[in-house]
Amino acid sequence: MRYGRDPDSVRLVAVCKSQPASAIRTVAELGQRDFGENYLQEALPKLAELSDLDLTWHFIGQLQTNKTRAVAEHFHWVHTLDRERIAVRLSEQRSPHAAPLNVCIQVRLAAEPGKGGISKTELAPLARRVLELPRLQLRGLMCIPPPREGFEAQRQMFAELADCARELREQGMPLDTLSMGMSTDLEAAVAAGATCVRIGTAIFGERR
Ligand SMILES: *Cc1c(COP(=O)(O)O)cnc(C)c1O
Repeated sequence: MRYGRDPDSVRLVAVCKSQPASAIRTVAELGQRDFGENYLQEALPKLAELSDLDLTWHFIGQLQTNKTRAVAEHFHWVHTLDRERIAVRLSEQRSPHAAPLNVCIQVRLAAEPGKGGISKTELAPLARRVLELPRLQLRGLMCIPPPREGFEAQRQMFAELADCARELREQGMPLDTLSMGMSTDLEAAVAAGATCVRIGTAIFGERR
């Protein structure tokens, strides 16, 4: 109950990029259900190999238009939505027999060239558009803040994302997810209200 948070209110996504399927299986056998992958080509064979397990797959990498079909077919969540065109494609390509694809919009909290995410000013219009798309379920917001030293500086960045979500909720959007926090800034993210943390190194060890 540290930071006034109930542990059950934070979903742990085990980020398994660069990890072999055997390592993922080991972690799944310990009871972990949610796994995150960044690279489609790397992920698809692992998803196939682990298809006997009842896992929830989160796509957390930058998404290009030519990858949307496979993501819509194989993943349960996308955390990195930042463009209308991708949203429309994901909705069109999601099977009518599957549950709607859970999506978070990635928000860019600082101007970082080459990084994914939509600016705060463009966020509300994109969120409204996503809510209209029948095969997507808008769950919330995601960020990868620029590296900051120290708990308080990190917490402030995450609090900005929490504020964005609050504003959208005040406009009537039913968001329940704040996807924020990695191995090095997990505590600050939880303190700022994360409902989903994406942890790789602290679970699997350093990536090769
Ligand atoms: C790699 C990655 C993570 C996990 O990072 P660690 O520092 O290994 O915990 C989380 N989120 C995203 C988007 C990533 O690319």
